[in-house]
Amino acid sequence: MTELKYPFLDLGIVNSRYAADLKKAASRVIDSGRYIGGCENDIFEKELAELVGVDYAVGVSNGLDALRLIFRAYIELGQLKPGDEVIVPANTYIASVLAITDNGLEPVFVEPDSKTYNIDISLLESAITSRTKAILTVHLYGRVCYDKCMAEVARKYNLLIVEDNAQAIGAEATIESCRGTAKTGSLGNAAAFSFYPTKNIGALGDGGAVTTSDRALAETVRVLANYGSKSRYNNVFEGFNCRLDAIQAAFLRVKLQHLNEEILHRRELAAIYSTTISNVLVKTPLIDSPDRSVWHQYVVTTPCRDNLINYLANNGVGTDIHYAVPPHRQPCYSRYAHLKLPMTEKLAGEVLSLPISSGTSVDDAREIARIINNFTND
Ligand SMILES: *Cc1c(COP(=O)(O)O)cnc(C)c1O
Repeated sequence: MTELKYPFLDLGIVNSRYAADLKKAASRVIDSGRYIGGCENDIFEKELAELVGVDYAVGVSNGLDALRLIFRAYIELGQLKPGDEVIVPANTYIASVLAITDNGLEPVFVEPDSKTYNIDISLLESAITSRTKAILTVHLYGRVCYDKCMAEVARKYNLLIVEDNAQAIGAEATIESCRGTAKTGSLGNAAAFSFYPTKNIGALGDGGAVTTSDRALAETVRVLANYGSKSRYNNVFEGFNCRLDAIQAAFLRVKLQHLNEEILHRRELAAIYSTTISNVLVKTPLIDSPDRSVWHQYVVTTPCRDNLINYLANNGVGTDIHYAVPPHRQPCYSRYAHLKLPMTEKLAGEVLSLPISSGTSVDDAREIARIINNFTND
């Protein structure tokens, strides 16, 4: 296949602008002689906690492990037990669900809102049973999924709120009680971050983190991620090896410094797409005012997706699908295949993600929008 003029995401281009600083960071770690833990990890955790507005951040191996460790820590702390139900959006990446089932917890899938594609918060209360103990909210595509109603339902039924913040680092929610805003990752009881290379802040390999202001939880996650070892050869839990590499912590420190530019660029591209795309076959996503999404993905819906993908590819535009098969329709979850989640299934057939990284320029976005406007389904 020929190179696309407008690739969906070119990580080489994304990281090339930071190459000099990334090389310096790598050299620091190489010269330090310390490759697991150490000062890069310590400083990264402080910087992340400060950015998010929480007391603790714990660097871990990846986003899935961050989620798994949060649920396992709540089990070790006696706040959850196997068999408890966790409410989760049906429209999410499978990692959200894997973290629940891996811990012997039971996912309760809730349909998305037709405008935001995030969990429909008005359906939360009807999904609650006597076994419901937590809500896993996912800020999908970088759009905040948290509001006063979710907080009230959690308070009323004494539920934990865990945030899957893999896609929304830096996003903000309006908090009416304090008439201000708060960052995703600080909204619930604990949050998981992913620094997979394609995420808004991507490592050069795998990486993740847990944020919380709950000291016991932070400590338990840290111990669990290091063999369950509280001090050397003192294993208090049947733990794991889920640590963040020092070299990734050093890389992430470089990239975190540019989070605001990254967000502003993505917002600018989203605004261009939304104001320029006028093809009736392509529905553009909702933009809130003010826009607080961090646009991890810019996802349009179209009833003629296959034709649009081919047309765009023929015109040099790369696209991707997030996600073509929802978790409850995956072979590993055949036990949930009977569930009726029509909105989730409809979205899976219609969503299409357009290029929206720092490798896509403002002019590229205008040209991509123009190409989309010339699409006819024949
Ligand atoms: C990427 C992602 C994860 C998993 O993160 P990894 O670092 O790839 O393990 C979890 N949830 C969501 C919503 C994601 O997008």
